Amino acid sequence: MRLLILGGTTEASGLARLLADVPRHDAVLSLAGRTAAPRAQPIKTRVGGFGGADGLAQWLTSERIDAVIDATHPYADEISRNAVAACTQIRIPLVSIVRPPWQAQAGDRWENVPDAVSAARTLGTTPRHVFLSLGRQELNVFAMAPQHHYLARSVEAPSPSGLPPDLIVVQARGPFDRTAELALLKREKIEIVVSKNSGGSATYAKIEAARELGLPVVMMARPDKQAGHVVTSPQVALDWIDQLAPRSPRGV
Ligand code: NAP
Repeated sequence: MRLLILGGTTEASGLARLLADVPRHDAVLSLAGRTAAPRAQPIKTRVGGFGGADGLAQWLTSERIDAVIDATHPYADEISRNAVAACTQIRIPLVSIVRPPWQAQAGDRWENVPDAVSAARTLGTTPRHVFLSLGRQELNVFAMAPQHHYLARSVEAPSPSGLPPDLIVVQARGPFDRTAELALLKREKIEIVVSKNSGGSATYAKIEAARELGLPVVMMARPDKQAGHVVTSPQVALDWIDQLAPRSPRGV
């Protein structure tokens, strides 16, 4: 089968590794292009948007793709909406790998908020040392609470305009471990953490470190992400693809 993987996550890379060993499928991995130097992948890779749902549908048709695997990040909701629309439009199967969210445990002090604006408001009026662990795309929102001292971590540097005035950006790519996260939170005198509920193990250590230090975590809710057939792991996604009957080429 000819497959498209919508990627940019640990799960997409895991699936790419599985598919590299499966000659019966011809798969291409698609990245949004958010990172300048993405990790090397063992299968064909393309980079950049398709031009909305219609552009994706056209691309799938011209590439004679038989099925799509959506392995995008839990907060990347636009590409998933487009995937559902495009696959429905041209009537090909869609399987979505959905990473389960983290669940609060005893000792966690989570404040659940719907979005970044609410997170910025939740920090309050008194200046605090805040760790922003939410990527770079929504750092601008925290300019509305300029009284705080921010430490942000992201893979790529954010665009410099509109950022909060007192912001240090650390560029780093996970996975991160508990000891290092504890050291970071202590060294930077962090008083509160703002996080997405990304799920998975690669970025969970900061949640453990916050728990250990008794720090509050402002947890931004996941968007409502559209999906096809939902699975939780690359292997189950591949099993689901394998049980699909091979399709005849479209238009024949
Ligand atoms: P998005 O808002 O869902 O997508 C925006 C547009 O980017 C899509 O409409 C599509 O453009 C293009 N796109 C996204 N993923 C693509 C893919 N795999 N291949 C080709 N094109 C793709 O996604 P986002 O802007 O990448 O991210 C949204 C949120 O998710 C952000 O908050 C970000 O921090 C978070 N995120 C986190 C990670 C992570 O690993 N930590 C990874 C990705 C995203 P067209 O409409 O032109 O096709």
